[in-house]
Amino acid sequence: MKILLLGGNGQVGWECQRSLSIMGTLDIHDRSTADFLYLDKLRKVVRESKPDVIVNAAAYTAVDRAEDDQEAAFQINSKAVALLAAEARQQNACLIHYSTDYVFDGTKQGFYSEQDETNPQSVYGQSKRDGELAILDSGCQFFILRTSWVFASRGNNFAKTMIKLAQEREELSVVSDQVGAPTSAELIADVTAQIIYQLRQKPDFAKKHSGIYNLVADGEASWFDFARRVLTKAQELGLALRVGPQGIVPVSTTSFPRAAPRPANSRLDTIKLSTLLNISLPDWQFHVDKMMIELLEKRP
Ligand code: NDP
Repeated sequence: MKILLLGGNGQVGWECQRSLSIMGTLDIHDRSTADFLYLDKLRKVVRESKPDVIVNAAAYTAVDRAEDDQEAAFQINSKAVALLAAEARQQNACLIHYSTDYVFDGTKQGFYSEQDETNPQSVYGQSKRDGELAILDSGCQFFILRTSWVFASRGNNFAKTMIKLAQEREELSVVSDQVGAPTSAELIADVTAQIIYQLRQKPDFAKKHSGIYNLVADGEASWFDFARRVLTKAQELGLALRVGPQGIVPVSTTSFPRAAPRPANSRLDTIKLSTLLNISLPDWQFHVDKMMIELLEKRP
């Protein structure tokens, strides 16, 4: 099976390099060889690759910057995705793509299912939703995996920022009125591998099961809970901190005005995905602890 992996240097892309390497022949590209701002070149990459599966881990993910950089956000998150979907349809390849909790406005009580109405509140959210719609309209076989609060030991993310701030500052305030599920890039890549495994085993798998699936770790947390877990583990592993987990101050979203609004509720129901693949998604703490061990045991 030939797998074309795009965005191979991002958090999810990097983990996909690891988890997909045993699934077939991997053709890996990053921005330097497949820039989503240049559609003709991107089309050429896909045509020359002749993949059975396209995994798209590339995206414009700078949520606040997107508010002033709409053209690039829509180009990368929707126009280029439309191109990938059209190519997948033409080449009879399956497209695996990632989307986000930002397609919702976050006002629902309870967990969002795949059928819930979307209502993005930011340029990033709208650009990702347009990408989803382009795939749905294309007629290609696809899996859209909607995830949230992604972290990894590689790349910049909230967990690493918290460690840095807790080492540098005397005080640390973290938002406690947004809830979601911190989800590791490793988990996302492993589930992607599971889908590809099914595609290999069952020729009609993509045809029968194409659709949108929520993919997040089990449980729920606020950013405050997430930060507390990160610092608790950091202390356990012997890292010297100026602010410990008990010192973090919970604050409301209004304390941190941002260019792009965040959904207050990002909780996604994963029953559709876990039933499809017959898997149990681990609780969010599992991979947070694992990442902390990876990060801190590597330090000099
Ligand atoms: P990252 O920001 O870590 O990776 C995105 C990758 O896209 C980067 O490697 C980046 O390249 C690449 N990229 C950006 N612009 C271009 C371009 N013009 N051409 C080609 N590649 C480009 O994101 P994640 O791995 O965290 O995200 C993976 C997916 O998950 C995305 O679809 C995202 O929308 C979704 N998601 C992410 C969440 C999160 O919290 N991060 C939450 C919910 C969903 P470079 O390294 O050169 O900058």
